[in-house]
Amino acid sequence: MDVIQIKEKQFKTFIPEADILKEVERVASEINRDLADANPLFISVLNGSFMFTADLMKRLTIPCEISFVKLASYEGMSSSGKIKELVGLGEDIAGRTVVIVEDIVDTGLTMQRLLETLRARNPKEIRIATLLVKPDKLKVDLDIPYVAMRIPNDFIVGYGLDYEGFGRNYRDIYSVVE
Ligand code: 5GP
Repeated sequence: MDVIQIKEKQFKTFIPEADILKEVERVASEINRDLADANPLFISVLNGSFMFTADLMKRLTIPCEISFVKLASYEGMSSSGKIKELVGLGEDIAGRTVVIVEDIVDTGLTMQRLLETLRARNPKEIRIATLLVKPDKLKVDLDIPYVAMRIPNDFIVGYGLDYEGFGRNYRDIYSVVE
């Protein structure tokens, strides 16, 4: 097991890259099966989902498009539930099948607000694909058809996820050492 230091905190290996990729592969085949004729538009939520998005997209074999958006709701180690404006969506999503690609659903408040914002643009359907869910922290009722992994409440970094801007570059997922 690896221990890494980011700022004043230590993190230990929690999910190795090989285990992550196995689950990403599974999610990709579910999407390939379900959305083969839907011509979906994937909307990847930056920054945290960039690595998941890349690994997922490489495994999709169906006709699809991708766009990247940005919003921020998280500072330090606790989720605020506040959402900043959605930035970067140039595509017209009216009548389209949209798949949101997110790094982690914690309380679910960010996802709920994002869904509201996107629904106002009249897509045909919105599905959620997330790398991680913390089921015990969920505060809202969300239908999430594509979940790579469910994890306990620990704060995690790596594979795109950060602590105060650092740690996104690691291949594995690490959890904080309290
Ligand atoms: P929610 O609104 O669901 O509570 O928070 C979602 C956002 O909080 C995620 O997109 C992510 O940016 C951040 N987040 C939640 N849990 C963690 C965590 O354990 N580690 C990191 N790095 N970010 C997290």
